[in-house]
Amino acid sequence: MSTAHEGDGALGELLDPELPAATYVLEPDVVEPLTRRIVTSHTAGTHRSTLPFTGAPLAAFPLSSPDDVANAVGRARRAQEGWARTPLRERTAVLDRLGVLVLERQSEILDLIQMESGKARRSAFEEVADVAIACRHYAVRGPGYLADRRVPGLLPVLTGVRVHRRPVGVVGAIVPWNYPLSLVLSEAVPALVAGNAVVLKPDPQTTLSALWVAELLQDAGLPEDLFLVVAGGGDIGAALVEHVDHIAFTGSTATGRKVAARAGERLIGTTLELGGKNPLYVAADTDLDSAVPGVVRACFSNSGQLCMSIERLVLHERIADAFLERFTAAVRDLTLGTGLDYTADVGSLVSAAQLERVTRHVDDALAQGARALVGGVHRSDVGPYFYAPTVLDDVPSSALCAREETFGPVVSVTRVASDDEAVRVMNDTEFGLNASIWSVDVARARRLAARVESGTVVINDGYASAWGSAAAPMGGFKASGQGRRHGREGIEAVTEVQTVAVQRGARLGASLDTLYALGGDTPSRVFSTALGVMRKLRLP
Ligand code: NAD
Repeated sequence: MSTAHEGDGALGELLDPELPAATYVLEPDVVEPLTRRIVTSHTAGTHRSTLPFTGAPLAAFPLSSPDDVANAVGRARRAQEGWARTPLRERTAVLDRLGVLVLERQSEILDLIQMESGKARRSAFEEVADVAIACRHYAVRGPGYLADRRVPGLLPVLTGVRVHRRPVGVVGAIVPWNYPLSLVLSEAVPALVAGNAVVLKPDPQTTLSALWVAELLQDAGLPEDLFLVVAGGGDIGAALVEHVDHIAFTGSTATGRKVAARAGERLIGTTLELGGKNPLYVAADTDLDSAVPGVVRACFSNSGQLCMSIERLVLHERIADAFLERFTAAVRDLTLGTGLDYTADVGSLVSAAQLERVTRHVDDALAQGARALVGGVHRSDVGPYFYAPTVLDDVPSSALCAREETFGPVVSVTRVASDDEAVRVMNDTEFGLNASIWSVDVARARRLAARVESGTVVINDGYASAWGSAAAPMGGFKASGQGRRHGREGIEAVTEVQTVAVQRGARLGASLDTLYALGGDTPSRVFSTALGVMRKLRLP
């Protein structure tokens, strides 16, 4: 990689005085085409991200200050006025091109996602696929979701009422590090189609991927200032909440509560996509051989750092041992690796903090009597933050990993004697994001799904069938969130509904005023009679 030189102006300021030049895996002048897109006045310092595969410094970039956030929202607000007036077909055309570009240029972003998050390439590709699906979906369906609706008015024929969807203005998106491409565009695509501008605050560790999205949107033809990126941590996220018209937050439940409280004070809308403790039930009639690969994927995709990831296996006791024999063998076979290619099944955890959390959860369970059927160890032989895919049995309910989200490659086993007990166990959590049910009897699985308190329930798959179905809303019950992304609900969340009612007939003497002019109780009697007739005719 080339080296940035002292005295390069903004580039020189990015060099960490404690590190010699050429220390970064991606030197400042290499990433400068991306990092110059950050809205910053260079007063808030520099962030240094880490390559999770080795722990080496990955890149340095300037942070935004709270004033930069206000500036970004102001610029976005000015640009949004013109964008809202741009014909819808031009707006959808931009997103349609984005969906093509993301597939054409996937190798660039796959490398970047892997380098910033440490995930395996297949998990990174799921992000690319998700974005292409979302772009296609909203380009095709967006106009229908946003179309004006005629609804019945007060007086048949004389009152004409239409309901319009207007963009809210500037949508603030705050996202974590685990899906740095997909989460950004899950929020941005419907918001932009609806005529909003977006100001994004990514996690500091995955800021380059977010900036690549900004570049791609520009290449797809998005006019200037409609998608702006501010860089920083929680303070910059909190500053964003102060200025925008809607906040789309993805992250932990603890932070989501703070964001929701402040958004509530400001009376702005929120979409909150939060944590989970997702269960997967294997019913007694499941075809075990065909189930195992899907269950493995459900638990260990992106090393378990997927919000929909399964952390609790609920097994019918009749098949539990036979299932675990096959399942643990498949988990043992998973390959861990650092390649920027498709050779590894499982990548690294993103950071030392994630490694600490996973280690703490597993060690706590083991100390309380749990058994590791597979894994339970730090795999420092592969990289500093790698953790072995882990299956824990006999986890007591007092263990941290029994109730708290681990957000790592760790799944615990519970045996149940009936479907009813399985539903009880699945619902025994403060969360309700995703659940999975496996059975050859789909009708029975559907009946169980209706009793599970979860925003998505996936039958005979772990997560991809719900996530990849862009027409279907996705989000959480209970402490897993509020509002939904994807589909009609995803675009409605970032619009205001406006009713425009037109009263006709004044010049023909058939207005409400004509009725009121009759005086006394006549208007009331006429109106009461008319309401009675309308009820009989079942007019809405
Ligand atoms: P986090 O809540 O710590 O951080 C998320 C984002 O919020 C980051 O960009 C962070 O800088 C920002 N932030 C932190 N404090 C803030 C504040 N006070 N105000 C505004 N912004 C603030 O989450 P994390 O631990 O980095 O991410 C993992 C969590 O995200 C897990 O709980 C996971 O389940 C959840 N997640 C949920 C979904 C979903 O769709 N439901 C998707 C991905 C991740």
